[in-house]
Amino acid sequence: VEPVLEGVDLTKHFAARGGSPFRRHKRVVHAVDGVSLKLYPGYITALVGESGSGKSTLARLLAQLYPVTGGEIRYRGQAVKATRGKAFRAYASKVQLILQDPFGSFNPVASILRTLQRAVRIHHADRSRAHQRATVDDLLRQVSLVPPEQFTEKFPHELSGGQLQRVSIARALAASPDVFLADEPVSSLDVSIRLGILNLLKKLTEERDVALLYVTHDIASARYFAAETAVMYAGELIEQGPSEEVTQHAAHPYTQLLIASAPDPSRGESARVKDIGQPPSLINPPAGCRFHPRCPYAMQRCQTEAPPRFDLGDSHTTRCWLYADDEEAETRRSQTSF
Ligand code: SF4
Ligand code: MG
Repeated sequence: VEPVLEGVDLTKHFAARGGSPFRRHKRVVHAVDGVSLKLYPGYITALVGESGSGKSTLARLLAQLYPVTGGEIRYRGQAVKATRGKAFRAYASKVQLILQDPFGSFNPVASILRTLQRAVRIHHADRSRAHQRATVDDLLRQVSLVPPEQFTEKFPHELSGGQLQRVSIARALAASPDVFLADEPVSSLDVSIRLGILNLLKKLTEERDVALLYVTHDIASARYFAAETAVMYAGELIEQGPSEEVTQHAAHPYTQLLIASAPDPSRGESARVKDIGQPPSLINPPAGCRFHPRCPYAMQRCQTEAPPRFDLGDSHTTRCWLYADDEEAETRRSQTSF
């Protein structure tokens, strides 16, 4: 199977805001650095990381909301560049972004019907009212908002967060997309309804052969929900592979820490097994391995040399010097608890 969307060595740097105007050197935010990622039709890929790790920036880069600083985005094997104009609109209809806060992405004075009709008008050749109306009803049914007439005349503030997130998924579906980029699609929702939305996304992904990038800080949900998991730290992907591998046999010390610090369900949402500490600033990130100031296994080279990607088999890879093929790494690896 060929990937439908591919990021190759993607890099995004921003000029840092604020700071002293007398600084001689420009301050650069390394939001995304050398990230390669493939999305396949019908498959869910989880992109996991703490807030501030660059995962939202990566999702927006893939949506072409701003130009890349380096690297390339390929859609069906072709490089895409446009961030405006007709070519961008064609791309944007095929690659749909779903955001965390559904309330922020709706016109508060437009009814659900008006909003969805507009989406249908943009993406469908048949402009008849009858087609628009029938399509809106069908879209609402697909996201289990039934009967549709109970929702069409409502305004965004009259719906719950979960219902409105379903409407935003319906709106995305109107474009018959190939890719969903869902940035923390359930994080702002009540815990009790998260699973329903995730299951809906999963069902649509499979039924319509859509590729889904599921951006989340919750590595436990990645395991349940996604076939593939990619872990992001300080702008870089530090571990990737089948979710089962990445979560059950985590190779990178940071992935280990993420798993160990996930909320313990038996002790409630907020109970954390282990304190995770602070992620680094993306302005002048640490040299070498960006995790080295927090890593209990850091070696000399970790402070100066960025680790390459090591292949662990079964398409599981990690960027960590522990997996180098030499004596020091081997000795160090034997000291780890994993
Ligand atoms: Fe730790 Fe070194 Fe691996 Fe980075 S490369 S995670 S510092 S052992
Ligand atoms: Mg974010």
